[in-house]
Amino acid sequence: MPASPPPASEHLALREAAPGVWAALAAPAGLAASNAGIVDLGGATLVFDTTFSPASAAELRAAAEQLTGRPATLVLNSHWHDDHVFGNGVFGPDAAIHATAGTLAIMRATTPGHIAEFKQHWPRQLAEWSRQAEAAASDADRREWEDGVRFARAIIATFPDLQLRLPTHTFSERALLSGTRRTAEFITLGGGHTASDAFLWLPADRVLFTGDLLVTGNHPDLTAGDPQRWLAILAAFKALRPSRLVPGHGELAAVADIEALEQYLGYLLQLADEMNARAEPLPAPAAPALLPAFAAAWANQEAFVRNLEFCRKRSAGSGRQ
Ligand SMILES: [Zn+2]
Repeated sequence: MPASPPPASEHLALREAAPGVWAALAAPAGLAASNAGIVDLGGATLVFDTTFSPASAAELRAAAEQLTGRPATLVLNSHWHDDHVFGNGVFGPDAAIHATAGTLAIMRATTPGHIAEFKQHWPRQLAEWSRQAEAAASDADRREWEDGVRFARAIIATFPDLQLRLPTHTFSERALLSGTRRTAEFITLGGGHTASDAFLWLPADRVLFTGDLLVTGNHPDLTAGDPQRWLAILAAFKALRPSRLVPGHGELAAVADIEALEQYLGYLLQLADEMNARAEPLPAPAAPALLPAFAAAWANQEAFVRNLEFCRKRSAGSGRQ
């Protein structure tokens, strides 16, 4: 008895990707900070990724329950990044959390420290932004700092609910999650964006939830992964011939967005080789002159130089320059 209108949401915007399948897209000013998904398997409800905060995860959990008429008992983590797993603790002990064995190993080693750092960082950030708001030279500047202050306060308010919850089930190649309505395939082809990335493929619906292996309108983060292997994973995405793609960040995507990311990775790898060959110094942050035209309007532009630096170190290390 699924409800028809999607529940109102502060942190997430729900889009139906197929009957019984929803993308939960991070709202720009909310605390989700990454996209997630809800899948009615028939007899069981699955949630793909748990977003950045307990507040947004609670909204995701409530939406899943309202849309499918039952609690989500299958929860997936596409990779270890905090903005995809910090909501895990909101899903109760009845929920099984699936991830690759590689992702669990990384989370076991690093996520407790990330949570501790996060709880130390935000009160400091709030104090800093409050000072900036008071000292702002113009009303426009002050309003911008005050937006930050509100965001920091909202994050801090979620601390009591931010608890470590690690994946409970692991797999090494593919996990099949079946219900009476559809089968979902949780697949890893190794690491591209991180050391271990998994994506969700719904073959009957041709819907692909990519995690951060695809982002739209944003610079991707290359610095925890392997860009060459990432390109091989993107080729595998295209071979699936998906009709709907839910990226880790940004709006619903199409195959053209995969191609834009391929172009971005290829461009950076080539630029890194060329700059290494010329022993050129690293450019200043942002480096707008080096940005390819197709990525000029992408958000998260500060990632570009970090990505370039990472590719140059790899290129130098592999002796390919
Ligand atoms: Zn990520």
